Amino acid sequence: MHTKTIKQLSVLLHTKQISATELANLFLRRMQQSDLNAFTHIDETLTLQQAAAADKRLAQGDATALTGIPIAHKDIFVTRGWRSTAGSKMLANYSSPFDATVVEQFNAAGMVTLGKLNCDEFAMGSSNENSFFGPVKNPWDKSAVPGGSSGGSAAAIAARLAPAATATDTGGSIRQPASFCGVTGIKPTYGRVSRFGMIAFASSLDQGGPIAKTAEDCALLLNEMAGFDPRDSTSVERDSEDFTRDLNGSLQGLKIGVPREYFGPGLASDVEQAVRAALNEYEKLGATLVDISLPKTELSIPVYYVIAPAEASSNLSRFDGVRYGHRASEYTDLSDMYKKTRAEGFGEEVKRRILVGAYVLSHGYYDAYYLQAQKIRRLIAQDFQDAFRQCDVIMGPVAPTVAWDLGDKTDDPVANYLADIFTLSTSLAGLPGMSIPCGFGQGGKNAKRPVGLQIIGNYFNEAKLINVAHQYQSVTDWHLRQPADT
Ligand code: GLN
Repeated sequence: MHTKTIKQLSVLLHTKQISATELANLFLRRMQQSDLNAFTHIDETLTLQQAAAADKRLAQGDATALTGIPIAHKDIFVTRGWRSTAGSKMLANYSSPFDATVVEQFNAAGMVTLGKLNCDEFAMGSSNENSFFGPVKNPWDKSAVPGGSSGGSAAAIAARLAPAATATDTGGSIRQPASFCGVTGIKPTYGRVSRFGMIAFASSLDQGGPIAKTAEDCALLLNEMAGFDPRDSTSVERDSEDFTRDLNGSLQGLKIGVPREYFGPGLASDVEQAVRAALNEYEKLGATLVDISLPKTELSIPVYYVIAPAEASSNLSRFDGVRYGHRASEYTDLSDMYKKTRAEGFGEEVKRRILVGAYVLSHGYYDAYYLQAQKIRRLIAQDFQDAFRQCDVIMGPVAPTVAWDLGDKTDDPVANYLADIFTLSTSLAGLPGMSIPCGFGQGGKNAKRPVGLQIIGNYFNEAKLINVAHQYQSVTDWHLRQPADT
């Protein structure tokens, strides 16, 4: 039962072959038995209350396709009932008085919340090792990182601890953990999904999206998640869409752009092999490969690591010991209280970003760093528009290597940043991007580690990405593979 897709579970629920309560209990047991550290907060009573309400709706006949389906939320979305920590000591005991819009939408559809998923502190990281609640283990190889910052979301789906999860992507945090854990995830176009109640990291980049086993499941989740929200000033006003509408469209004649810069010397050969094999598969499906160039790819790292910290330093100023969360217990005056609260409440990486952000925004450096980065950001977006004149979608690796060993890069923040090379530019441009499983690399001593294929589309072309991903998943089974002990 735990290996079934959302689509399959929905049929079982609607035909009364299983109840929402049975399903919730089944996943709660699996979560309790897991040693992956994927969850930060579980509350069985609340989960079972939602499951009972879902069963009532199913019995009354006013259920949606998602009623009774269990879902777990990245602990960056605020939730009434479950704690909302953002993986930080600062918010370790924080309870939100309201639900994020995304959570509200899933609740309204009758989904059943399983709990909150571990993540890097304030979503800053690529390995989930920056969480105050400890790292998450990769279910394929417990000595490997699950990727980040949505490590809990990807690990939970891979280990079949939940059939659906929310995640957020600021510079790769949906696509990269999905790739490292062999699951499917989509980062929608910036503005598609409401940021209201998503604890802010870098507001011009942050975007929520789903992680699940299949592209079709992601489409079903996105159908609920996407939509205009007057409470988010950057939410786009567009009519709602059915993202499953093009699932079965033929790929005959599809032009796939293959960026030269994504296949350079930094790319590990096992990742390259798996990605090239996937491209071959697409050729068999009728697509043609087009050699393209995204010349500013390398600049995405310095640009992102100026803009994201700048926005973070501003967003995180609200954590002052007065308004939310942690407050130092001993201090001499107000200024001392601020300092001690922030010194105690934030972890090392978050402090590093606040320092960098405050520096690049400061008088005298603003023009040299922040303004310059904004200008190059514009050029990066232009690169993509030039490329989309030659192709319908772009494909390449999600990350230069498979998941690395836990602890491998913890002393070297720059090594972590460099590993984001293939995901940052999509985020800077605000484009939709996806990761789907396409094979395995060498990785650790005994265990295989998954490889993801990245699919990037033009603005608001999510239905196309899902079509392209679904067609591949109809002729391959990488997305159905699961770690040995699950
Ligand atoms: N790894 C990137 C960072 O550390 C991206 C994180 C994200 O997308 N939330 O900022």
